[in-house]
Amino acid sequence: MIDLHTHTDKSDGTSTPPELVRAAAEAGIDTLGISDHDTFAGYDEAVPLAREAGIELVCGIELSTRLPAHSGSRGKSVHMLGYFLESEPTAGFRAWLETNQRSRRERNRRLIARLNSLGIEITLGEVEALGRTLAGRPHFARILVEKGYVANRQEAFDRYIGEEGRAYVYRDEPSVEEGIRRIRDAGGLPSLAHPIRIGAKAEAMLPQFVDAGLLAIEAYHSDHRPEHVQHYLALARHYGLLVTGGTDFHGDNKPGVLLGSVDLPQPFWEKLRGSTNLARRSAGND
Ligand code: AMP
Ligand code: FE
Ligand code: FE
Ligand code: ZN
Repeated sequence: MIDLHTHTDKSDGTSTPPELVRAAAEAGIDTLGISDHDTFAGYDEAVPLAREAGIELVCGIELSTRLPAHSGSRGKSVHMLGYFLESEPTAGFRAWLETNQRSRRERNRRLIARLNSLGIEITLGEVEALGRTLAGRPHFARILVEKGYVANRQEAFDRYIGEEGRAYVYRDEPSVEEGIRRIRDAGGLPSLAHPIRIGAKAEAMLPQFVDAGLLAIEAYHSDHRPEHVQHYLALARHYGLLVTGGTDFHGDNKPGVLLGSVDLPQPFWEKLRGSTNLARRSAGND
């Protein structure tokens, strides 16, 4: 089985890298992509463990990017995956990720202030005890549930911290085009993550993303029903995109999503691997 989209506790998953590798082996996964938000720390730690377990480990990243703002409303968030199939990401890219991590921390401070102003008692210390350097909104959601402010994680997003929530604070994120370019310049293959979440308007912008250097789309994902998968496979054919897929496993932070529940068919994986020379040549990165 092939799963190219998982998270460790180095971002907002709950499994340590050794736990993730062990669970993947038990689920029958032989090709595992770790694609944490804004960090390679989980991947780096998993490298020797995966080798021992006989798992082919794929180096990935998930970036939060933004669509352009329009008519008074802020741009929607779009997640962009990057896969480094042939070479390690450049040092420059790793350094750039650190600036994103700082902006996340600053966002977290403002989110705390906004929640406090709504009468919710929560501190940055509590959030960072759970999420450490990569504390994110899923950690906020856990605390809001634990403290009884909301019944569950989804309610935390819907009422407070999601894009439509009362406490939502905007974070400066790179544009979709910049995210794509950063991944390409670092020797990676950009893939549009869980396209079901971006909506029809953003989907209509796919040709622009392709012009900006997008190379793949995540047609297989735990949020996609079979008809969605078919829809995104058709888009991939239409725009000449490669196909990626995975569970988006987050451990206990997404309890319904289990390892082994999404399997990228082997032919797509072979095409991805076969494409890397091409991707690097056309990015002018040789
Ligand atoms: P952050 O990177 O801290 O802004 O948190 C983003 C993460 O929160 C995403 O990767 C999702 O897992 C989760 N998330 C964001 N918006 C929602 C939403 N409306 N409903 C459920 N989960 C969400
Ligand atoms: Fe996440
Ligand atoms: Fe995502
Ligand atoms: Zn993800």
